[in-house]
Amino acid sequence: SHVLGIETSCDDTGIAIVDTAGQVHSNVLESQQEFHTRYGGIIPPRAQDLHRARIDAVCERCLEQAQLKPEQLKAIAVTTRPGLPLSLIVGLRFARHLARRHQLPLLPVHHMEAHALQARMEHLEEINYPYLCLLISGGHSQLAMVNGPGRLTLLGETLDDAPGEAFDKIARRLRLYVLPQYRLWNGGRAVEHAAQAAQNRDAFEFPLPLAQQRNCNFSFAGIKNNSFRAIRHRERAEHTPPDGIISNYADFCAGLLRAVSRHLMHRTQRALEYCLQQRLFGETPPTLVVSGGVANNDVIYENLERLSLAYNCRCYRPSKRYCSDNGVMIAWHGIEQLLQHQNASLRRDIDKIDIAGNAGFHASAVSD
Ligand code: ATP
Ligand code: FE
Repeated sequence: SHVLGIETSCDDTGIAIVDTAGQVHSNVLESQQEFHTRYGGIIPPRAQDLHRARIDAVCERCLEQAQLKPEQLKAIAVTTRPGLPLSLIVGLRFARHLARRHQLPLLPVHHMEAHALQARMEHLEEINYPYLCLLISGGHSQLAMVNGPGRLTLLGETLDDAPGEAFDKIARRLRLYVLPQYRLWNGGRAVEHAAQAAQNRDAFEFPLPLAQQRNCNFSFAGIKNNSFRAIRHRERAEHTPPDGIISNYADFCAGLLRAVSRHLMHRTQRALEYCLQQRLFGETPPTLVVSGGVANNDVIYENLERLSLAYNCRCYRPSKRYCSDNGVMIAWHGIEQLLQHQNASLRRDIDKIDIAGNAGFHASAVSD
């Protein structure tokens, strides 16, 4: 059976169709990045206008590519939280309308849960519940035990910024976008690429955040502020013009990438030790899944993979095209809900599904 998934939590209008075997029948994504970069950030009412203007055509193209009629679908899945309320509501209203017109069940999806389950679509045999998931994206940094859809236990999360957000803000402050090849890239991708050209990888050092704590929380504000300070310092020393970039930006990017990797590894190591000690994996082979937009980063992923293998823990991430926001992960979460409920409790009151309560997961603190 096929599920159509709708994602409009932020600035991407994504709709995709996925089947129970994890096969993607179509995946249409309209990004607003180009529009928003012109304004240095997302303006929610404009994001809403763009979703509204595009969602019909995106859905039509999606059904067309899959060569399916809405009646042939098993259900509609839609992101209901967390995200920008103005953006979420466009997807939800559209999904309600579609579900009603074709008498299909409507499945609400938690966006971060969808990131967390996405790797299973391509590794259904290997990734069994429960597993440890490191969710690193533009708005979140979380470690969670994943027991199934709707069944995540939070072990720790960021106290301030998310890593993707830090990459984006630092890249903008560094003015990486003045280099034509990075003009339309997100900050994380630009930093990763720029770091490859580093001549002196030790030119920039950053302190390890929360070094004295042994819980699973994150903090990226220190790295961000230290970055701003280091950039300002270099700009003054080099008399960089207001629309220019420091000469050793590649070294800076390498230092930044190492700092973020070290912090993520430090916290993930703690979580792995905790899970193994508490026997949270039970009979399942210990497994770490890295997901969210920052999981695109090869340096970060390979570091985490190395760490994980040192604990005899298997490590996975979704394919790059599915790490960042898209309709596929929402559709796949819908499939997971179908698999879990065996179609039992699918008759829901469509009007009761709402974007209210941008709540997170059930929390369980990892103490020192
Ligand atoms: P959330 O999922 O928390 O609501 P989001 O949906 O905006 O946030 P994603 O689409 O999952 O975030 O990820 C986008 C983020 O991923 C951006 O902040 C971007 O900088 C980061 N990112 C993308 N590619 C890379 C990369 N290669 N290295 C590091 N970061 C990256
Ligand atoms: Fe996301």
